[in-house]
Amino acid sequence: MGTIMVAGGAGYIGSHCLWLLRQRGYEAFAYDDLREGHGEAVLDADLVVGSLSDFDLVKRTLEERDVDAVFHFAASCYVGVSVDDPASYYDNNVATTLKLLDAMRAADVNTFIFSSTCATYGNPVQEYMDESHPQWPINPYGWTKFFVERVLSDYGNAYGLKYVALRYFNAAGAHPEGIIGEHHDPETHLIPLVIHAGQGKRPDIKVFGDDYETPDGTCIRDYIHILDLADAHLLGLEYLRGGGESAAFNLGNGAGYSVMEVVKMVEQVIGKPIPYETVARRAGDPARLVGNSARAQEVLGWRQQYGDLETIIKTAWRWHEAHPDGF
Ligand code: UDP
Repeated sequence: MGTIMVAGGAGYIGSHCLWLLRQRGYEAFAYDDLREGHGEAVLDADLVVGSLSDFDLVKRTLEERDVDAVFHFAASCYVGVSVDDPASYYDNNVATTLKLLDAMRAADVNTFIFSSTCATYGNPVQEYMDESHPQWPINPYGWTKFFVERVLSDYGNAYGLKYVALRYFNAAGAHPEGIIGEHHDPETHLIPLVIHAGQGKRPDIKVFGDDYETPDGTCIRDYIHILDLADAHLLGLEYLRGGGESAAFNLGNGAGYSVMEVVKMVEQVIGKPIPYETVARRAGDPARLVGNSARAQEVLGWRQQYGDLETIIKTAWRWHEAHPDGF
């Protein structure tokens, strides 16, 4: 088998996937422009620094390194910014992915594992959304991922591309030994922000609304451990290598946790109270987003190892405690 190129391998999800690939004995390297990724996150793996829209460099890299599959994590991921600056999101998430796919076609690389999102569903019309839930995103970020899913389907029909699109719910947690973890700048995600409040790096955590129709009034999300996510990518690769049909799979925990449950769990894990303040709802936040990942379990044989909220937060805390300033 050939080598795996992890596009965006210096980012949060990509670096955990790269680590797991190499841990399991795969030949894998990162390709990243380091605009948002961190060179340290690839540990001792090879890192090619460059843009995915550099057709010549991507094609040459694929050929010279004997790549037979690409994992694609390189994308912009802030919903709010995508609303204010959609051009950069369509450019970075869609146009750049088209370039990457062009270079893959030119280099005859036909296996693609794509980082998609539950944001492609938009507002939930059913509890425990499964893959047949209508896809009608409610922000440009979700549309960019949805468009790429469409492109993959069309390229599959026309050019024989084989792909797995993984629709993540809320990626969270870190490597259990704390060697790599989540470092976004700016940080907007709940769990790292609550930890920052616990570390005194910010005065408090703002709870975006406590008048939702949920048991404690705060929003419920489906937090899924980063290494469980990574594991599903490897299973997706083996599924395609074994002749599996291209498909999309949800990756969620199936257990939703409220914002206040997260705050309380961080308090329990770090052993001190977290100052919080309830503020207005954030625009576009549904009350409850929880996935049904039965297809990934049945078809890929995916099983979570780090699924409970305590483990997710303990691993996140280990990383943040050891790296208070990130990488
Ligand atoms: N949230 C919050 N305060 C924050 C950040 C997030 O209350 O400072 C809430 C947010 O409204 C959502 C949940 O935490 O209900 C998870 O938000 P995050 O941005 O981490 O992920 P999303 O679900 O938006 O992808």
